[in-house]
Amino acid sequence: MRRPRAEACDRLALVDVRGLVEPGAETAELPDGSALALRWGEARGCYGGRPGRALLLVCPICSRSARVLWRPPGRGWGCCRCWPLSHASHRRPGARKGQPKPLRWRRDQIHREQYRCAELLGLECWPPLRLLWSARDLQLAARRPDAPRISHHRQQALIHRLDALESLRVLAIIPSVDSFAKGLGLALTPPPAGMGARATETVHATGWAVRRGPRDPRASRGGPAAGIAPKSLFD
Ligand SMILES: [Zn+2]
Repeated sequence: MRRPRAEACDRLALVDVRGLVEPGAETAELPDGSALALRWGEARGCYGGRPGRALLLVCPICSRSARVLWRPPGRGWGCCRCWPLSHASHRRPGARKGQPKPLRWRRDQIHREQYRCAELLGLECWPPLRLLWSARDLQLAARRPDAPRISHHRQQALIHRLDALESLRVLAIIPSVDSFAKGLGLALTPPPAGMGARATETVHATGWAVRRGPRDPRASRGGPAAGIAPKSLFD
């Protein structure tokens, strides 16, 4: 049986209900007249360290706690286990296991990493106004007055990283440009051999420049710090 699409279902989240109920209430009256059971659990570590109570919805079908309930057309409310749905993210290209990821994903990934390098370098203008640029242009590029203070060594590594990422970005664009040119009956000259391997090597070698040092207070905040590329990104 096909899963109902999430966009076609009614969605009831905890935040929609929270304002409608009194603390400790057993049920919530929904605007359509139906009643929904609630569960109050113990919550620790919030409300300024004092023990608090967390509100959860109760799935009318399986009685398990849920934060979100769904109602497919013509059926009742149920949690995500009772009503397995098809979400838009499940249906985008490359979402299935074993399916090749679209090149657009890789381009976006590279673009984000470039943006991070530009931010650390404190460049006044990113992306560069010129379509074609080199590492030398980055050396001369203007920097913001509030740009982070970094060592010359790190600055050079970031510039080389940015340049190498640009090569990878161009390589990721080439297949779509190529097919477009073929449609027009044109033949493009292939990129120089070893360009991708050299760029990947530089990206690996300069990974340290975008990581935070062990003494940076932001480095110890739980989980991988935002913006830092996972190790497998350019493997
Ligand atoms: Zn359920």
